[in-house]
Amino acid sequence: MNISIIGAGPIGCYCGYLLAKAGQRIDIYEEHAEIGLPIQCTGLLTSDFDQFGLPKESFLVNTFGEIEINSPNKQLTIKQKEYLIDRSKFDGFLAELAKKAGAKIYLQHAFARKENEGLVIKDTKNDKEIAVTPDAVIAADGPLSKTAHAFGLYPADRVSYQGVQAVVEGKFDLNKYQTFFGNKVCPDLFAWIVPESRSRARVGLASTKDARKLFDQFVLERDFKILEIQAGMIPLYHPKQKLQGGNCYLAGDASGFIKATTLGGLVPGLKQAELLANSIIESKNYEKEVKQLRKKMNFHLRLRKIFNKFSDEDWDKLLSLLNRPKIQRLLERYTRENPLPLVVKALITEPKLWYFSKFLF
Ligand SMILES: Cc1cc2nc3c(=O)[nH]c(=O)nc-3n(C[C@H](O)[C@H](O)[C@H](O)COP(=O)(O)OP(=O)(O)OC[C@H]3O[C@@H](n4cnc5c(N)ncnc54)[C@H](O)[C@@H]3O)c2cc1C
Repeated sequence: MNISIIGAGPIGCYCGYLLAKAGQRIDIYEEHAEIGLPIQCTGLLTSDFDQFGLPKESFLVNTFGEIEINSPNKQLTIKQKEYLIDRSKFDGFLAELAKKAGAKIYLQHAFARKENEGLVIKDTKNDKEIAVTPDAVIAADGPLSKTAHAFGLYPADRVSYQGVQAVVEGKFDLNKYQTFFGNKVCPDLFAWIVPESRSRARVGLASTKDARKLFDQFVLERDFKILEIQAGMIPLYHPKQKLQGGNCYLAGDASGFIKATTLGGLVPGLKQAELLANSIIESKNYEKEVKQLRKKMNFHLRLRKIFNKFSDEDWDKLLSLLNRPKIQRLLERYTRENPLPLVVKALITEPKLWYFSKFLF
């Protein structure tokens, strides 16, 4: 099959690699002149990333052993292995992988519009338009996905977060990253401090409103020297998001498949890329293949809706309950990629956690 992929981000390139490896003819169109830039991501990955079997040496920045979680008056430390990657190097690595498998990547080529049975791609370097008629189109063009819009697959009521982060200088513990919850810090998510080294970290937060104001306030309260500011949109998962329309398939941020609890999109997006590639190669139904992943996305969204109703006292209460040794052991066993078994086991182990079920309604 002749397949056009729009967007040479990690999801477009990984999907392109898997399809090219299976013998499909792949053209990847990327609007920017360079892969992986500008950086709009912290690059934090749970250890579930290991399932993809990708060698980490060329893009790994740090490996953490602990996560420190802070609420206004409580603190909790969870032992978990997590990775911090360099997004520019990671995207470059996946693009090379796709190229080596036979995919062609066209830089400074932007999807412009759908026309008749094909697509119009704008070659921005030479200021000309190219018409292509692929058998299938994969929209992997990120949170604003012009391709999803053109194929009528972008929900009109999709909610987006604005993520703001900075690379800062300060003093940091290399073995752990920190998160900060509470209505003053960030009412609809949390803030993070993720060390790259003992003297450098990525500090950020995301919110649906006033992200920049909240970020400035968070940084001002700490003794950091800002080296570089990065910002980007992050879609909130939409439960009615369609993944296919005509010969167009959606993957990654273009489809909003992001964990609504943390706004991490890399592990679910890479998984989605595998499911999509497999559906095309084996002529399977993509929606059916993605059902289990969608269930996880729905559960993350349900948790997000609960967390958004928390007062500062609720965050303190949750952290106190999670600090109990039996729950700690559960938190060490499960990553946040699939929270359902963790929540079920935690509710059985510590019945006081049922207190938070009042936020379900
Ligand atoms: C501040 C911030 C921090 C984040 N931190 C994390 C984190 O720590 N861990 C995590 O898992 N996730 C994180 N995310 C989310 C993560 O960055 C995304 O889920 C991930 O980048 C999705 O990859 P993608 O390939 O779907 O989209 P993108 O990475 O957005 O790639 C899309 C590509 O398409 C290209 N493109 C766009 N429009 C067109 C067009 N018309 N024609 C051609 N090309 C086009 C873009 O230039 C881009 O290269 C963060 C996001 C933000 C904003």
